[in-house]
Amino acid sequence: MPLQSPVSDHRSVWHTLSESEALQTLSVTANTGLSGEEVSRRLEQYGRNSLPASKRRGPWLRLALQLHNPLIYVLLVAGAVTFALKDYVDAGVIAGVVLINALIGFIQEGKAEKALNAVRAMLASRATVLREGERHEIDAALLVPGDIVLLESGVRVPADLRLVRVKNLRVNEAALTGESMPVDKGTEPVGSDASIGDRTCMAYSGTVVSFGQARGLVVSTGQLSEIGRIGTLVGEVQTLVTPLTRRLDQFARQITLFILAAGLITFLFGYFVREMPMLDIFLAVVGLTVAAIPEGLPAIVTIVLAIGTRTMARKNAIVRRLPAVETLGSVTVICSDKTGTLTKNEMTAVRVMLPNHTLDVTGAGYAPEGGFHCDGVPVEAAQDEALQDLARCALLCNDAQLKHDAAKGWQLVGDPTEGALLTLAHKAGLDPIETATSTPRIDEIPFESEHRFMATLHHDHAGHAFVLLKGAPEHVLGLCVQDASDPLRNGTAWEARMEDAARVGQRVLALARCDMRAGTTALSMADITRRFTLLGLVGLIDPPREEAIAAVAECQRAGVRVKMITGDHVVTAAAIGRQLGLSADHALTGETVESLDDQSLQRVALETDVFARASPEHKLRLVAALQAQGELVAMTGDGVNDAPALKAADIGVAMGHKGTDAAREAADLVLTDDNFATIARAVREGRVVFDNIKKSLLFILPTSGGEAGVILLAVFAGVPLPVTAGQILWVNMITAVTLSLALAFEPAEPGVMRRSPRKPSEPLITRILGVRIAYVSLLMIAVTFAVFEWEIARGSSLEVARTAAVNMLVLGELVYLFNVRHFTASAFTRDILTGNKIALWMCALLIAFQLLLTYAPPMQQVFQTAALDAASWLVILTLGLVKFLAVEVEKFVLRRLHVRSM
Ligand code: ATP
Repeated sequence: MPLQSPVSDHRSVWHTLSESEALQTLSVTANTGLSGEEVSRRLEQYGRNSLPASKRRGPWLRLALQLHNPLIYVLLVAGAVTFALKDYVDAGVIAGVVLINALIGFIQEGKAEKALNAVRAMLASRATVLREGERHEIDAALLVPGDIVLLESGVRVPADLRLVRVKNLRVNEAALTGESMPVDKGTEPVGSDASIGDRTCMAYSGTVVSFGQARGLVVSTGQLSEIGRIGTLVGEVQTLVTPLTRRLDQFARQITLFILAAGLITFLFGYFVREMPMLDIFLAVVGLTVAAIPEGLPAIVTIVLAIGTRTMARKNAIVRRLPAVETLGSVTVICSDKTGTLTKNEMTAVRVMLPNHTLDVTGAGYAPEGGFHCDGVPVEAAQDEALQDLARCALLCNDAQLKHDAAKGWQLVGDPTEGALLTLAHKAGLDPIETATSTPRIDEIPFESEHRFMATLHHDHAGHAFVLLKGAPEHVLGLCVQDASDPLRNGTAWEARMEDAARVGQRVLALARCDMRAGTTALSMADITRRFTLLGLVGLIDPPREEAIAAVAECQRAGVRVKMITGDHVVTAAAIGRQLGLSADHALTGETVESLDDQSLQRVALETDVFARASPEHKLRLVAALQAQGELVAMTGDGVNDAPALKAADIGVAMGHKGTDAAREAADLVLTDDNFATIARAVREGRVVFDNIKKSLLFILPTSGGEAGVILLAVFAGVPLPVTAGQILWVNMITAVTLSLALAFEPAEPGVMRRSPRKPSEPLITRILGVRIAYVSLLMIAVTFAVFEWEIARGSSLEVARTAAVNMLVLGELVYLFNVRHFTASAFTRDILTGNKIALWMCALLIAFQLLLTYAPPMQQVFQTAALDAASWLVILTLGLVKFLAVEVEKFVLRRLHVRSM
C-alpha cells in the first residue's frame, strides 16, 4: 500500500487494520520509532501537526468598533450640531478628537491582544515520542505520520493515533464526540463502518487520556486529523473582557447617563436663565460632558491587565484566563504540592534499610558516583546480597532512563524518584542493559498517585516468573507476609525504621518481590495481594528549594497562608513543612480529612498547613472548606484528577513541566518552571496590577472632575468660561494619550507584600478614594480659576487668561500624576523621578504639546490661544507646586492614620 493514500484518505481505514498492518503501512516498528532523517522527510511531506489559528476580527472592523462608545456618540452628535450651527472650526476639532480617540483605542487594544497572544503561544503542547529507540519530549507540532507516541493519564492526544499497545487506557472524547464519559480503549481492529466513538483502537487528536498508558502510531496530523477535518478550533481565544472591566464599563455607562442629564440641565440653565448664545452654551455643555465622562477607564484597565499578564509571563507565570490577574492579588491561601514545587524534585537515595543492616549512600545527583557505608565503614556492594536484590528491584521496577551527555552530565528522562533508584542501582554495580536482558519485563502495573505503587512482572532465563513491587511503605508492608518473630518480616520494626528516616525529611519507598507460577505472562491488580517479601526500604532526600523558603516567608508576611498538600508520608511531609517554615505540628493525612465532616474540616483546614497522603478528592474538599471560611484559594495540581480541584479553586495553578495537559487546561495560571516562588511572584504582580488600576481610577476621576467642575462652575456663576470647549477637548485628548497611560507601567509599591490581601468584596471606589477624588477635583477647580481670574485682573486678554487656565489645568494633572504614583507614601523620594521612565517621557511629550498649543500660530488659531509671558508661567508653576504639596499633605495625614493603600 503506498504511504500517501491512507494518510490523506478522508474516509480513513486505520481502525480496520491490525496493529502490524498499520505499522507496516507507515514503515515503522513500535519499539524503535522513526529515524531523524525520515522524520524530516515526512515533516516536509505532510507539514506541521497544527491547526490554523482562530480568525481575528479584521483591522477595519476593529477600528469601527472603537466608535461604539458612549463618549463617541456624544461627540458625533455634538460635531453634527456644531457643524449645523456653522461653527466649522469646532466641528473640525470634534471630528479630530473622534478620530484620534478611535485610533488610540485601536492601538491600545491591539497591543493588549498582542501581549496576550504572545503569552498564549507559550502554552504550545508537547508530546512524548519514540524515535531511534529513545524517548524524546518534543513540540507536538513536529509530529509526523509514523511517529510512535507514548500516552499516559492526563495527556491530550496530540494527533490521530492507531493504538498499538494499551494498558487500562481510558480516553475522554468529549472534545470530538460530546460524550462526557471516558471510553475504554484496546488494540483490536473494528469494522469499517464503526463511528468515531466506536473506534476503540484509535485515539483522536484533542481528546484527553483520563487513565492508563498506551503507545500509539500517528496516522494523521494537523488538518487531516478528525478534529482538523471538522474544523473545531483548539484552544480558547483569550477575551479582553473580565469581571472588572465589565464592572468598570457599567460604572462608566452609569456615570455617562448622569453626566448627560447634568449636561442637559446646564444647557437649559445657561440658555434660559443666563441667556447665553445657543452655540456658546452648547459648546460649553459638550466640553463639560466630554471632560466628565471617564471614557478611557475600561481601556486603561485592559492595558494594565495585559501588561501585568506579560510581566507575569516573563516571570514564568502564564495567565490562561485574564480575570485571574485581578483575583491573584486578593488570594488569601495558597495550597501547593510539595514535590517539585516547594522542593527541588532532585531525588537522591541516601539511606538503604536492609533486613539486617542499614547503609548510608554517598554521592549527590543522578551521577552514579558514590558508594555505601555501614556505620562509617565502606561496604563492598557486590558482596552484599541483600543490597543486590534490592538494587535489582530498584532497577527493574523502574521506567526512568539516565543519559550521559558530555556537556550536561547525567540527565534524567522520567520520574525523579525512579531516577534516584536507578542511580542507586548503578552505585550498587548493576548494569541496566544486562539486567534487563537477563530478566526481561513481561507486564506491568504502572505507578498512579491513587494506589501509590508500581509493579512489574519478569521472567528469567530459567523460566521463573516473579513480580517486583515498589511504593509507599505502609502500602507495600501491608502486601508483605508478616511474622513478628522474624526480623525480616516484622512489620512493626520496619515501620519504626521507616519513621526514623521520614523524621529527617526523607521520602521512603519500600521494595518487595514475590515469585509467580512459571509461565505467567500477565499482571493484574488481582495479583497484588499479601504474598510479597520485603527487600528493604530506601530513603530519598529532596531538599526544599531555597527560593521557596523565602517565598513562603514573603507570603506569610503578606497575609497569605501557605498550605502544603502532598502524596508523601505524613512524617516526611511534616519534616519538610518545618524546613519551609510552615506550621506542621498538626499535620493531617488524607485519611483524617476523609473522616471529618464538612464543619470540622473547615475548622482544621485553617489551623493546619501540612496535608499528607492526600489525593485529588481531598484537594477538592479542602478548597471547598477554605472557601466556606471566606478564603480566596489558589490551588496547584498536575495530574488529570487534579482538574476538578483546579477548577473549583479561585485560582487553579498547573505545572508547566510536570503537569498534564488536563491540569493545564483546567488551570487559570500555568507555571513554566513549576516553582512555588513563581506563584508568590504572581500574587505580588496581581497586587501591582490592582494597585495600578486603582491608581488609574485615582488619576482619571479627579482630573475629569476638575475639568468638568471648571465649566460647570463658570456657567452657573455666570462668569466667562476659563477654558473653551475646544480647549477641554484638547486637554482630554492629550492627557489620554500621555498621562493616563503612564500609570499602567507603575512598578510595585514598596510595601506591596507587607499588607494584607484586598478583600474581594471591597468596592472599587472606597471611602478614602472617594474623598481623594473630591479633594483633588476641588483643588483643580481652585487653581484653574485662580490663574484665570488673576490674568483677567491684571488686564490680560480673554485668550491669554484662557491659555493660562488651560496650562494650569494640564500642569495640575501632571503634578498630580507624581502624587498618585504612591497611594499614601511620600512623593519626596528619588524613585519618584527614576522609578517610572515612561511617566517621564509622557510628561515631556505633554509639555511639548502644551508649548505647541501656546506658541504655534496654527494652534493659536484653532484653539483661540495666545502666547504667555514669564509672569504667567511663574504663577502657573507656583500654583502647580502648591497643588502638589496640598495632596502631599493629605497623604501625610493618611499615613498618620496608618492608611497604606486606598
Ligand atoms: P506531591 O503531591 O507533594 O507533589 P508527589 O506528587 O510526588 O508529591 P505522589 O507522586 O503521589 O506524590 O507519590 C506519593 C507516594 O507514592 C510517594 O510518597 C511514594 O511513596 C510513592 N511513589 C512515588 N513515586 C513512585 C514511583 N515511581 N513508584 C512507586 N511509588 C512511588
